Amino acid sequence: MGDAYKIAILAGDAIGPEIMAQAVRVFDAISRHRDVVFELIEAPFGAHAYFSHGKSFPDETKAICDAADAILKGPVGLSFEDSKKIPVDEQAERGAILPLRARYQTFANFRPIYLSKDMAHFSPLKPEIIEHGIDILLIRELVGGLYFGEKERGVNAEGLRYVHETLAYDESQIRRVLTVAFEQARARGRRLHNIHKSNVLMSSVLWNEVLDEVHADYPDIEVIPMLVDAAATALCLNPSQFDVMVMENMFGDILSDQGGGILGSLGLMPSACVGPDKAYFEPSHGSAPDIAGRNIANPYSMIGSVAMMLEMSFGMKAESTLVWDAMKSVFEDGYTTADLSAKGVDLKTVGTDAFGDLVIASLEAKLAAPTH
Ligand code: NAD
Repeated sequence: MGDAYKIAILAGDAIGPEIMAQAVRVFDAISRHRDVVFELIEAPFGAHAYFSHGKSFPDETKAICDAADAILKGPVGLSFEDSKKIPVDEQAERGAILPLRARYQTFANFRPIYLSKDMAHFSPLKPEIIEHGIDILLIRELVGGLYFGEKERGVNAEGLRYVHETLAYDESQIRRVLTVAFEQARARGRRLHNIHKSNVLMSSVLWNEVLDEVHADYPDIEVIPMLVDAAATALCLNPSQFDVMVMENMFGDILSDQGGGILGSLGLMPSACVGPDKAYFEPSHGSAPDIAGRNIANPYSMIGSVAMMLEMSFGMKAESTLVWDAMKSVFEDGYTTADLSAKGVDLKTVGTDAFGDLVIASLEAKLAAPTH
């Protein structure tokens, strides 16, 4: 009897169900070729859950996630205008995503920014800047900082509306994510870019103090400090200087989307959100309401999130590599999705379903090949 894993499937809103439909095919393909069973349990989460259950993160979904070995989450949320149909506290981030992160304390967010040399034509950057492709691991603290600090709205003594939002971290929150980042740096190129803003923010002063303490345990790692504003420029001008980057929550939210920009699309951005006992996996991007229902969303980010789950939650590194290789081989065969079509390159543009068909066909062939 092989391994059996229970996976909560939160398909999400807008393009969520379209890209999730392709991603779950990976589990099916692997279980047909390997001695492993994946039990997939769908649960409502996000705007559609609010409309059907009155809550964006309903209790039944919490119970399913609690019982699961890992969680696969599609993007959630509505367009800016449609979001107004939902009370502020129940809108996607406040009502669903942040409570999910808080529930499982998924403090370490792994966001690979990766474009193989053969896919470099998808990037808007000039070929001479990224002649070797792009290969960065951005690690974002995910359960602290401004997004989780105390918030207060009111009217002050002068009758003016005001808001207070608090950027709070304690040293243990900083230390645990930095330790993850140092470990990743050790497993990769032994270089760690510490992205901070200590010239302005006291939170960054503490962050850097703790970093020096953690660094003492990792003397083999070179730490390169960089202000977050400078890092935004450097990502465009010379992304090859980066290997592993670590930063607090909001810096990571913004810079990782810029990472999608230098790849050519957010559709190339999977991620893993890892806590002490449980991890969930999701594309870094939102629900893309502007392209929903047209079968043109890129499922790479969702399928890549499955690849990350296979390796990080189930220890299935070999199968995870096959999933990445299958996606790469589809691009190498000259296929592309609408978000990526590069000017001046002769590519065959395929929709969400067809991209999934090609990836699964390639994956099946790789899984069926004899292993040595
Ligand atoms: P978005 O990330 O959904 O879209 C930004 C741009 O990227 C759009 O042009 C979109 O078409 C494109 N894009 C994103 N993913 C794509 C894919 N897989 N294939 C092709 N193109 C893709 O950002 P937004 O429009 O600002 O936000 C839409 C909704 O998503 C909002 O409600 C927001 O709150 C929510 N959101 C959710 C998450 C999450 O679930 N983790 C993250 C960010 C935003």
